[in-house]
Amino acid sequence: MSGSLEFDVIIIGGGPAGLCAAMYAGRGMLRAVLLERGITGGELLNTELIEDYPGFSSILGPELAQRMTEHAVKFGADIRQENVESIERGEDGVFDVITSLGSRYRAPTVILTAGGTPTKLGVPGEAEYAGRGVSYCAVCDGAFFKGETIAVVGGGDAAVEEADYLTRYAAKVYLIHRRHELRASKILQERLFANPKIEVIWNRRVLELVGGPTGLTAVELEDTVSGERSSLAVTGCFVFIGFQPNSGLIRGHFRHDASGYVITDDRMMTSIPGLFAAGDLRVQLTRQVTTAVGDATTAAIAVEKYLADRRAARD
Ligand code: NAP
Repeated sequence: MSGSLEFDVIIIGGGPAGLCAAMYAGRGMLRAVLLERGITGGELLNTELIEDYPGFSSILGPELAQRMTEHAVKFGADIRQENVESIERGEDGVFDVITSLGSRYRAPTVILTAGGTPTKLGVPGEAEYAGRGVSYCAVCDGAFFKGETIAVVGGGDAAVEEADYLTRYAAKVYLIHRRHELRASKILQERLFANPKIEVIWNRRVLELVGGPTGLTAVELEDTVSGERSSLAVTGCFVFIGFQPNSGLIRGHFRHDASGYVITDDRMMTSIPGLFAAGDLRVQLTRQVTTAVGDATTAAIAVEKYLADRRAARD
């Protein structure tokens, strides 16, 4: 393990929340580091168009990601590509953040903005055909399905938005939903129903993903009302059924809900003093870019106050 690296705050995750927190930490003259395992941008990189970020009536997700990164760097963000493995608070109130490179970062505060990972269907064939027809990212894989017939699973904003997006490539998109009512916002539903290439298959759950040497060939379905089984011939199946918060990095007890989303107070502090959470992994009504940056703003300013109080208590 390499030597320890001391900071005022360690920001974990480089999505909108992490980049916004880094920008504020830089402006607050804090010694901050942002650790991101991949490229900065988070879920923005998996989103084609952003149309609900104030000031930008329409901007490409990756372009907004790049602008947010440049903005954070302009105010001094120290962004490092490292995969965090654990966060633990010592008895001295200082956190140890261990990365897979073997680095030990130390700071009295951490802002966790690590988002979540896509929920899997958990059915036979899903892992086998992942990357061979099964996908969790329309922007990444949509172009592989030009002129083909594909399925999208889910009924939330992500499924509905991505089904619409995928019609620019696919000849036909079936949206498979387990109920008879979509969870997605009304404006997205209107767009979906107006798209002649999309057909919604109501009240069906996926039992199995089947295929052969060329990849996926069909999804096996069950009617959630009648129990009747059917098979739908598709070469692609995009799964958008939510995601799981990456809160498993935290060592020790912290308050969370039944799905693992982190509970915070109104300053974004978790039940572990000095550990703040912002963005998609926090318990909240909705998960938008706007709410992620709002959380991060509060968290970064609360960190400054926490550090000042900590210093005052020691003087
Ligand atoms: P979500 O809102 O939680 O919706 C998940 C959908 O998947 C629901 O329709 C759910 O069905 C279905 N589902 C869950 N588990 C399933 C399973 N095992 N099998 C079949 N279907 C299953 O998740 P999301 O769409 O990923 O959105 C997450 C958050 O990001 C939301 O707050 C959303 O508003 C936000 N978001 C916003 C935008 C936008 O505004 N443009 C775009 C993407 C995401 P039920 O309805 O029956 O529970």
